[in-house]
Parts: sequence; structure tokens; C-alpha cells
Amino acid sequence: MTVYAAPGTEGAIASFRPRYDHWIGGEYVPPANGQYFENPSPVNGRTFTEVARGDADDIDRALDAAHGAAHAWGRTSVTERARVLNKIADRMEEHLEELAVAETWENGKPVRETLAADLPLAIDHFRYFAGAIRAQEGSISEIDGDTIAYHFHEPLGVVGQIIPWNFPILMAVWKLAPALAAGNAVVLKPAEQTPTSILYLMELIADLIPPGVLNVVNGFGAEAGKPLASSPRIRKIAFTGETTTGRLIMQYASQNIIPVTLELGGKSPNIFFSDVAAANDEFYDKALEGFTMFALNQGEVCTCPSRALIQADIYQSFLADAVARTEAVLQGNPLDTDTMIGAQASNDQLEKILSYFDIGKAEGAKVLTGGYRAEMEGDLAGGYYVTPTIFEGKNSMRIFQEEIFGPVVAVTEFADFDDAIKVANDTLYGLGAGVWTRSGADAYRAGRAIEAGRVWTNCYHAYPAAAAFGGYKGSGVGRENHKMMLDHYQQTKNLLVSY
Ligand code: NAD
Repeated sequence: MTVYAAPGTEGAIASFRPRYDHWIGGEYVPPANGQYFENPSPVNGRTFTEVARGDADDIDRALDAAHGAAHAWGRTSVTERARVLNKIADRMEEHLEELAVAETWENGKPVRETLAADLPLAIDHFRYFAGAIRAQEGSISEIDGDTIAYHFHEPLGVVGQIIPWNFPILMAVWKLAPALAAGNAVVLKPAEQTPTSILYLMELIADLIPPGVLNVVNGFGAEAGKPLASSPRIRKIAFTGETTTGRLIMQYASQNIIPVTLELGGKSPNIFFSDVAAANDEFYDKALEGFTMFALNQGEVCTCPSRALIQADIYQSFLADAVARTEAVLQGNPLDTDTMIGAQASNDQLEKILSYFDIGKAEGAKVLTGGYRAEMEGDLAGGYYVTPTIFEGKNSMRIFQEEIFGPVVAVTEFADFDDAIKVANDTLYGLGAGVWTRSGADAYRAGRAIEAGRVWTNCYHAYPAAAAFGGYKGSGVGRENHKMMLDHYQQTKNLLVSY
């Protein structure tokens, strides 16, 4: 067990500035309006820094810097861009512990996750796209004997990116790595709840990337996000966040006829077929572990398996084991490497989750465990902690249909295969799903029948860079990860040549 010292205390390996400006043209730039907002740590609820409150003027200054850098960056060789991405990955790896602690402090998630998952995934993502851009090829088609069609990839130019607060560095890197690899310059707006881990990263890699290629403007959605997404000076907007905000982003983009990537909300089903309980073995244990994934990252995951569907003939016994397993998940100080569940990312999020406890109870759902704010002791007392919660009810209830984005799962039973698929697809969303069965045929049939962009089979919450990720239905437009993402940040140029 290691307990990292809190930033700002003796022995801390991560330390924050008392104030953060925007990152424009490779340096900190104060906000034009002179305004800042407070940034509290969810670990203890106390403000640890203040952050520039950007608006349209700051977005314009960042776009100036990006436009100044885009042409040269777009013309660098793919070998050079790959070298830069690999260097960024190396630098992040050298500072992995420091970045992990910074991210934990700002977001409230356990350091065991930031150390073992968030940061390593982000690092690998840069390396993956460094390789992918080097391997990308154009094409030549012979139209007839004298006419040839050549296809080239060209960068879009300057792109805008807007991200949420649940995986601050990883969500940024999912967008930055393909955009930069493809030769674009970027203006990124982090979530107002978690801007500093990204600025922390900007400082660390400042000498590796030409000034202006990568810019960060902080602030709130309506004040800084909207002017970015609706600017006629960007050639694409990539957004991750709520479905309601995604609708607005699409409207803004339509004014300028630019492409969008939308990674939105989810209400993912996790389906347990009766054969998982055929033996009390390693597989059964893995399935129970898969059930508890609803509490990973405090449930603040777009693919949180927030609806568990259990087949009727194992319903009672599996659920009893799942409740016991959930109650054994250790909640505590996010800076302690033993802690599995930390704090919710913001007080607003905490309040939202607590309100869903009332909604669930009012609509007749039964609380099997949890259902309250976790009271912590000492320095953690002011933090935003919620006990992992299991509700039992029906798929028509609001707690089954609305994204709570907390460590809350709503459980119901199904009769047979067709019933499972029907319930799984009875949702606005279509981002992720889990299928647990010993039958390869059922796994395949379920995987194909579920309307979701990612179906995990006998596993959950793995996000390899090489696997395409994105939503069906209300969960979004386009994909992230996978080398296909390069196409989303490029134009196709055709030269049709008659010899
Ligand atoms: P949100 O939509 O409130 O905010 C996301 C970002 O959009 C923030 O940076 C915010 O400042 C900005 N924003 C808000 N209003 C805006 C506007 N009018 N114009 C431009 N920008 C605006 O979402 P959130 O609460 O920060 O994040 C949680 C949501 O993100 C959940 O719904 C979750 O499912 C989703 N999410 C999806 C994925 C995915 O890959 N599909 C991944 C992570 C999170």
C-alpha cells in the first residue's frame, strides 16, 4: 500500500500553480476579460487553484495561434509527426506517477486507476497513432489506359475539440493523438471541472511540439465551448459529453458545414446468461467482477454498465453474490493505492446522483445496497463520496433509462435470449454493452443483435487503442480510437490525371 502525499503538502510529487491561464501559442496567456474561477479537489472539497474563465476573445486568440501554426505542421513529414508523438509518450511515461497523482487530485478517481489504466492508455494512444500515421497509404486507381485517379490524405487544418471531466487526460489524448498525427492544429476546451491535469501535461510537453499546434482555452460551455464549436475558423469539431450538449454542437456545426465527431452518453446493459452460474469457478468469479464494473471510476464512465440484466433462473443467487461482491469493493482516499472507489468529480455530480436515489425510491425501485452519500473521516470529510448502489426494478423506470453517471446499477431479470436483447435495446442510447455467457454462439448472436458500438464479451471496460469506439443511436456520431480515426481528421484529395 502506498498513500501519495496530497499536492501542496510535504513530500508531494505533483504540485499545482496557484493560478492557471490559457495555453496559447506554447505559453500561458491570461484571459482577455481578467476573470478566473475556483477549482476544488473532489478528494476534500477544497479549492486548490483558480483557472482562467475564457470567452470568445480567448477562443479567437487561440484560433489565431492555431492558424499561424497549422500550415507548417500539416506539411511536416509523417515521420516527423510520429517522432513528436512518440516523444510525448516517452515524456508522459517518465512523469507517469506525477501525472497520475495530479489527475487523481483534480478528478477524485483512485490513483490505482490513473497509474495502471488512464495514463498507460493515454501513452499507448500516442504511440498507436504515431505508428498508424506512418503506415497510412494513399491509393492509385487506373480509370482507363490513359487516366489515373490518385488519392491523397490531407489534414483538415484547424480543428476544435471539447471534452468532459471523467477522464481528463485520456479524453484529451483520444482526440489529440489522431488530430496531431494527421497534421492538424488544435484548440481544445477541457471541462471546467478538470482543466488543470491537461495544462499540467501541456507544460510537460511544451518543448516537444511547435508553438500554436496545440492550444487549450479553459472555461464554461456556454462562454468558451460555444464560440469554439460555432466558429467559422475551425474545419471540424470533436465533442465528448452529454447527449443534450451533443445536439447543440451539431446545430453549431451545421452553420459552418463542418464534420462532427460526437461521443455522447450511455445506459449500457450488462447481460448475464444463466450458464455463467453453471459452475462456481474462475469464469463465474470473472462475471461477478464484471458486474461490479458499474462502480469503476465511480460510475463516471460513458459505458458504465448501469443496467444489469440477469436471466431469471439464476437471478436470486447471482444477485446475492453480486451484492456481496459490490459491498467488498474498497472505497476510500483516492491517493491510497488500495482504494478502488474514490470521489465523484464535482459537487454538482454528487447532488445529481443523490437526487436519483430519491427518484429511484419514489418510482418503486428497491435498494439492495448503498443509496446514500458515503461519510468520510478527517481530511476527506468535505469530499464528494457516494456508496456503490444497487437498485432492483423495471427497465421502464427513470433509473434504467436516464444516465446517472455515478456508481449506481439498476438490475432486472429477463426470461430468454430474445427478451434479453429486447430489454437491452430498449433505450435511447447505444454506446456499450456487456455479454456474459459460456456459449460462443450466444455471445456472437447477442453481440450482433445489441444496438451498441462496443459489445464486450466476457470482459468489460477495456479500451485498447486499436479497437474502434463510439455510439449507435443517441450515443453519438463517428468513432474514436482505431486507425480509421485518422480519416476523421483528414480530407481526401483526388487528382484525376489524363496522361
Ligand atoms: P457536458 O456535455 O455537460 O460537457 C462536456 C463539455 O462540453 C464540457 O467541456 C462543457 O464545458 C462543454 N459544453 C457544455 N455546454 C456547451 C455548449 N453549449 N457548447 C459547447 N460546449 C459546451 O458533459 P459532462 O457532464 O462534462 O460529461 C459527462 C457526459 O459525457 C456523460 O453524458 C458521458 O456519458 C459523456 N461521455 C461520453 C464519452 C464517450 O466516449 N461517448 C466519454 C466520456 C464521457
